[in-house]
Amino acid sequence: MNLILLGAPGAGKGTQAELLVKKLSIPAISTGNMLREAMAKGTELGKKAKQYMDEGALVPDELILGIVADRVAQPDCRDGFILDGVPRTLAQAEALEAKGVKIDHVVSIEVDDAEIEGRMTGRRVCSKCGASYHVVANPPKTEGICDSCGSALITRKDDAPETVRRRLKVYHASTEVLKDFYAKLGRLRTVNGSQSIEGANADILEAIGAQV
Ligand code: ADP
Ligand code: ADP
Ligand code: ZN
Repeated sequence: MNLILLGAPGAGKGTQAELLVKKLSIPAISTGNMLREAMAKGTELGKKAKQYMDEGALVPDELILGIVADRVAQPDCRDGFILDGVPRTLAQAEALEAKGVKIDHVVSIEVDDAEIEGRMTGRRVCSKCGASYHVVANPPKTEGICDSCGSALITRKDDAPETVRRRLKVYHASTEVLKDFYAKLGRLRTVNGSQSIEGANADILEAIGAQV
């Protein structure tokens, strides 16, 4: 099963992707995590992406499409994958279709902008594996330490309130149109993201018809 998780920054895409990985036994592909890893390693891709990410702007489509096409071609994606944070523009969605990347369900996780800021100020992410936590809503077992890999948790620079507002604007201007695009293809499923993490996860599993 090939899935896309769509939603504003902070809607819970990363959190839900981690839960789905465990329940569906397919990998999650987060372009945000891949780009942050490239930045940390100082690769060419990382250097090219840094300024856009710091400003809360989108990284150019051609950089994104290259890394996604390579990743979905890996053997662990044979039985399916979860795209988290990609596609984010109509051009990215069209390019995936053109490349023959088959998508079964596009789950839009809906959360009002007003709720996003609180989520972002409390977000902590793993510096190594990218796992997402929240100081109140989803704390790690040991403060500052990732449950899954034991590495240090950090605050993302682009989670500063001003940059979050910029990213929300970008979402509404460039990404939200994808809901129409996938609705017309009959693949859009909409889920209420303003509920508990477990509640949203149960709704996602139901929306994609998963038997777990
Ligand atoms: P995204 O990947 O869409 O940007 P995350 O999964 O990283 O979002 O979630 C953003 C923040 O909100 C994180 O701190 C996360 O722990 C928290 N969060 C995720 N889902 C919920 C929820 N249902 N209720 C409250 N907080 C949540
Ligand atoms: P969030 O989880 O808060 O939605 P991400 O980790 O998905 O944020 O993305 C962080 C930043 O990485 C974005 O603001 C953007 O600069 C860049 N980025 C990630 N995925 C894409 C993409 N598919 N297209 C363009 N830029 C992207
Ligand atoms: Zn980790």
